[in-house]
Amino acid sequence: MEDLLQSWLLHANRRPKLLIADDQPVNIRVLYELLRHDCDIFMATSGAQAIALCQSEAPDLILLDVVMDDLDGHEVCRRLKADPMTSDVPVIFITSQDREDDEVKALELGAVDFITKPINPIVTKARVRTHLTIKFQGDLLRASALLDGLTGVANRRKFDEDLHADWRHGTRESAPLALLMVDVDYFKRFNDHYGHQAGDACLKAIAKALADALRRPYDKLARYGGEEFACLLPKTDLAGARCIAQRMIARVRELAIEHLSSDVDTRVTVSIGIAVLQPSRELTPDALLKAADDALYEAKRAGRARFAESSMDDQALRVSRASTGNV
Ligand SMILES: [Mg+2]
Repeated sequence: MEDLLQSWLLHANRRPKLLIADDQPVNIRVLYELLRHDCDIFMATSGAQAIALCQSEAPDLILLDVVMDDLDGHEVCRRLKADPMTSDVPVIFITSQDREDDEVKALELGAVDFITKPINPIVTKARVRTHLTIKFQGDLLRASALLDGLTGVANRRKFDEDLHADWRHGTRESAPLALLMVDVDYFKRFNDHYGHQAGDACLKAIAKALADALRRPYDKLARYGGEEFACLLPKTDLAGARCIAQRMIARVRELAIEHLSSDVDTRVTVSIGIAVLQPSRELTPDALLKAADDALYEAKRAGRARFAESSMDDQALRVSRASTGNV
């Protein structure tokens, strides 16, 4: 258990966030001294304060006193579980009541455990560790379900979610959305020539090079399938999208991965289809995918190792320009 917790903490690059909510500061102090070496601790001395803290930054675990003056622990738990933003945060009740019906009530409200006062330090520490580990396993599982196992970038499922979310934002904010479809040139030949292990290493290196070409936190790269990657650039016009495409093509060239069975270069290269649309309710994200696909086809047709663009005019797609991506 400890190894798993340690590996998660390394992966997440942070300490667990623990919220202690109790209306008696002396009780908070006892728990704080006990757990401060393992966790970053946030404190609340009322139910309302506990809820406000959870909404501003969800903790990994809450130790929640049952008997408090304003909102009691049960009501705080009920409200946290009713809010999608906080419903996943595990709650351990701290209670001096040790009657069995209180235990039942705590579990019915969605708490994962309860600890009775006066607290036993060893039991408390062990339970906190156990529930943090379970929380982190869940987080890890959720994260890995959205990542491509080979390259570590987002997978197709995550891309589909992001595309729809970015489309909605673009519609609301009247900001253009750019999509780049990136395809590795003659990748089947590469695999045939160098083997599948080299092919996998090549895709990993390319994913990293493409990710390195992105600058803003909301730009997203995903493995779309096979040797194809997709890149979403919110709030980006054609000039901005071109700039990223050129950088991507250059970064992949700089990897200098030998590819002697390619017809266009002795190194691995990529072709990129660029599409930029103004999202709206009259269109669907499929229009953007189709436009980027058409542009990618045009880049391939025009000789590969370059980008091509698709622009949308009165919903009639046309490839406006094919250009070499040499920089
Ligand atoms: Mg109390």
